[in-house]
Amino acid sequence: MDNWMNFARKLMVKPGSKVNLARFDPDNTLGYEHDEKTEAKLATTLKRLDRLQYVLYATKKKALLVVLQAMDAGGKDGTIRHVMTGVNPQGCRVTSFKQPTPEELAHDFLWRIHAAVPARGMLGIFNRSHYEDVLVVRVHGLVPKKVWKARYDQINEFEQFLDDNGVKILKFFLHISKDEQKKRFEERLTDPRKYWKFGAADLKERELWDQYQEAYEAALERCSTKSAPWFVIPANHKWFRNLAVSRIVLETMEEFDMQMPAPAFNPAQTKKEI
Ligand code: AMP
Ligand code: MG
Repeated sequence: MDNWMNFARKLMVKPGSKVNLARFDPDNTLGYEHDEKTEAKLATTLKRLDRLQYVLYATKKKALLVVLQAMDAGGKDGTIRHVMTGVNPQGCRVTSFKQPTPEELAHDFLWRIHAAVPARGMLGIFNRSHYEDVLVVRVHGLVPKKVWKARYDQINEFEQFLDDNGVKILKFFLHISKDEQKKRFEERLTDPRKYWKFGAADLKERELWDQYQEAYEAALERCSTKSAPWFVIPANHKWFRNLAVSRIVLETMEEFDMQMPAPAFNPAQTKKEI
């Protein structure tokens, strides 16, 4: 163990608390600097994550679901790439949620989500999630207000149900500033290797920045619960974002307190029989 602070406690949205995103500094690094010491710590964190994921996969008692939400260019893809670097692909599943297909739209909004929830033993990552149904859907009025308003409670019940069934959920809002988004859009329009990341719709969505922040505040306020907490991750600095997310995932897995399963045979005896 080390004397590093508890990132989860520092960055979690306390259940029931009011959230004003303007008060969360996206440049915050909690006093850490991007130096060799931090890099070494990051490497150790990923190594420990890999080891724990191995135990998660072997014991198959619990699943871990990591939900990532952010404004465009907020760093969801980069976070996934980073956090997954060390882990065994066989035990992971990443699901990206795009605009619903006609078939998905013909079902309740949690239908496609439930189908992607990780099985016990698995680490699941959602790149966007059911929260889009109270974010983009709310901002663009894609369903009547009465419909999206009812969804906060529906989401809480769904997540509680998953928790009761062995799925631990961690939800991360990668918080960048509007200036940082502009900078990242400019990079996407400058570096040919990043062109593909830019969509014309991104500028339209940027105009709705304030409405999105408001929608995020509502989701964070209404849906941060003890069993499925939200974390606001200061994400202007990619290294800090990576550090914070991987630390919180690690801290959570450590709390699972998993033991490797006992063999269903006598290893020493069986070895003699080879
Ligand atoms: P990207 O993540 O850049 O590939 O974009 C995916 C797009 O799908 C985003 O513009 C999301 O807002 C949109 N999207 C995801 N889920 C939903 C949903 N439930 N309803 C409407 N749009 C969605
Ligand atoms: Mg996009």
